[in-house]
Amino acid sequence: MADDSKNILQCPALLQYILEENSYPREHEQLKELRETTLETLKSRSVMSVPADQGLFLSMLLKLMNAKKTIEIGVFTGYSLLTTALALPADGQITAIDISRESFEVGLPFIKKAGVDHKINFVESQALLVLNDLLNDGKEGEFDFAFVDANKGEYIKYHELLLRLVKINGVIAYDNTLWFGTVAQSDDVINEKLKASRNHIRELNAFLVNDSRVEIALLSVGDGLTLCRRIE
Ligand code: SAH
Ligand code: CA
Repeated sequence: MADDSKNILQCPALLQYILEENSYPREHEQLKELRETTLETLKSRSVMSVPADQGLFLSMLLKLMNAKKTIEIGVFTGYSLLTTALALPADGQITAIDISRESFEVGLPFIKKAGVDHKINFVESQALLVLNDLLNDGKEGEFDFAFVDANKGEYIKYHELLLRLVKINGVIAYDNTLWFGTVAQSDDVINEKLKASRNHIRELNAFLVNDSRVEIALLSVGDGLTLCRRIE
C-alpha cells in the first residue's frame, strides 16, 4: 500500500480554497460563531468538529431526504448537531447522544440563538445504551437518518442497532471513515496514536462493503463520510 496517502485534510491549499472561497461564505452565522468559539475554547480538540464543507453537504442531504427524525451519536460542541437542527423542519426531532455534556454546553448558546434547540433531545450517556433503550421503547424503523461520530471501536455495534432504528430507505452516515488517510497506509508507517481507531475503521469499511442490507457510498469529504442507505 502507498505510504503517502492523503485525504483532503492533508492538502492545506485545496482545503483552504474550498472553505474560504466556498463554504464559509455560505455558513450560517450561528455555525460560524459556534466554530470560532470551539476553536478558542477547546483549541486543538476543535479538529473534531465536522468542517464547514461537510456541514453544507449534510444540510443538503437532510433536505433532499425530507428527514424529520434523526439520531446523532457524538455531539462534541455541536457543529454537526446545529447543522442538522437547522436543516430539519420546525417539527423535526433529533436524539443527540454524547457520553459527556461538557462540550455540548460550549455550543448550546449558539443553538439557542439559532432558535432550533426545541428540535434537540440531548442524552448524556454511552451511545449503545441509548440505542438499546430506543429499541426497547418500540422505536424500530422510526428514524430517517443517523449521523455517527463517536467511539470508532463501536461503529459495527452501532450499525446493527441503527439498521433496526432507521427506516428502509433511511440513511446511516459514518464519519471519519478515511481516518486522516491512515486507512491506506501500511502498518509500519502509522502514527501509534492513530493505529487503534485506524484498525477499527478499516474493519468497519470492509464490513460495510460486504453488508447487502445497505447501499454504500464513501465520500472523501472532511475525514471521509460513508453513507449507508438501508435497502431491506
Ligand atoms: N459530531 C461532532 C464531533 C464529535 S467528536 C461535531 O461535528 O462537532 C466525538 C464525540 O463522541 C465526543 O464528544 C465524545 O465525547 C463522544 N463519544 C465518544 N465515545 C462515545 C460513546 N461511547 N457514546 C457516546 N458518545 C461518545
Ligand atoms: Ca468526526
